[in-house]
Amino acid sequence: MRSISVFGATGSIGESTFDLLMRQGGAGRYRTVALTAGRNVARLAEQARALRAELAVIADAALLPDLRAALAGTGIEVAGGQAAVAEAADRPADWVMSGIVGAAGLVPGFRALSHGATLALANKESLVTAGPLLMAEAKRHGATILPVDSEHSAIFQSLTGEDMAAVEHITITASGGAFRDWPVDRLAGATVEQASSHPNWAMGQRITIDSASMFNKALEVIETKEFFGIAPDQIKVVIHPESLIHALVGFRDGGMIAHLGAPDMRHAIGYALNWPERAHLPVARLDLAKIGALTFRAPDEARYPALRLAREVMAAGGLTGAAFNAAKEAALDAFIAGRLRFTEMAGLVERVLDRLSGDGGLGKAPGSLDMVLDTDRLARRTAADLMN
Ligand code: NAD
Ligand code: MG
Repeated sequence: MRSISVFGATGSIGESTFDLLMRQGGAGRYRTVALTAGRNVARLAEQARALRAELAVIADAALLPDLRAALAGTGIEVAGGQAAVAEAADRPADWVMSGIVGAAGLVPGFRALSHGATLALANKESLVTAGPLLMAEAKRHGATILPVDSEHSAIFQSLTGEDMAAVEHITITASGGAFRDWPVDRLAGATVEQASSHPNWAMGQRITIDSASMFNKALEVIETKEFFGIAPDQIKVVIHPESLIHALVGFRDGGMIAHLGAPDMRHAIGYALNWPERAHLPVARLDLAKIGALTFRAPDEARYPALRLAREVMAAGGLTGAAFNAAKEAALDAFIAGRLRFTEMAGLVERVLDRLSGDGGLGKAPGSLDMVLDTDRLARRTAADLMN
């Protein structure tokens, strides 16, 4: 029986993963080692019962008594707190979903690699903050990382059987997010509610807002560099409002391979779950004649300063990605809390990077997870200082 664990089980990625696990045989087919969630005790308990999990972990330790009560009499072990989430990753499982949002997903995913598992990596922040460390850890333990971002799964699939040396460019598509058709001068007044609705994808609130600001695409450009080991100037972004082509790989013979599919994360998750095989997946099939046209346009850097910042982060290298991601998370927290305008997020991130790039030591290679986590904390503190 294949053993699995899901980190961030109650989120958007977690729920899609749960849906596929249940459709593909549930507890009869998979031995569920651990499920973890941030705060949603009731849903975590439901999933743990359905999959007959061995362990359920709630990241907010204050909610542990509630989880214990919810699972009383089931024989399912319970635990609470961030350390318990990381410890759950020490329990060997063949397939692990890294579906926590934000830098909080880094440690569990990293620790899961130590038992040579297949890590289905939705948590792109892991690669942005600690890409070289994560890739080296996977190699050291013979673990496999499979990307679970629609673009990166698309690239991965387009590269199967290909020689990386023959790749000229990788292009990832962007829907343009909630505000792609707004006049630039209206963006300053954008509300949290407006930024939280995506034209094509149903996702967690944070990544949805990051899609509107293009910080999500900025993270994904860096994710592409770290995962596929390609030079920054070979990575392109194109706006594709229909979100049906997820990525394209261009080769030196002039050919391009594009990956198309309905905007449904169960494709990328299901691909990673069944890899190297392809299973039947419950996603919509595209009717190209009905769709009629696919459109593309170049992204406007004035509208999306995050894309320029991503280029600067890749050029600076070292710990800059960790600072960039943490500053972005702090800016997003402030926007959601009503303390920053939508258009002020990029400026804050840039000021944090400016302040830390001198004596902050961001040029140093991330030699350890602790260095990454220290940089993360420093960047959040700096962002808080700059907002006061
Ligand atoms: P979400 O907010 O819907 O869910 C996040 C999950 O992580 C929840 O289970 C939550 O309880 C848990 N969590 C949150 N903070 C935590 C903490 N500090 N400690 C432990 N657990 C915590 O997020 P999501 O949209 O599912 O995104 C998850 C990850 O997948 C992100 O890295 C995102 O960028 C990536 N991703 C998501 C999508 C998507 O369609 N949602 C697509 C591509 C990539
Ligand atoms: Mg994506």
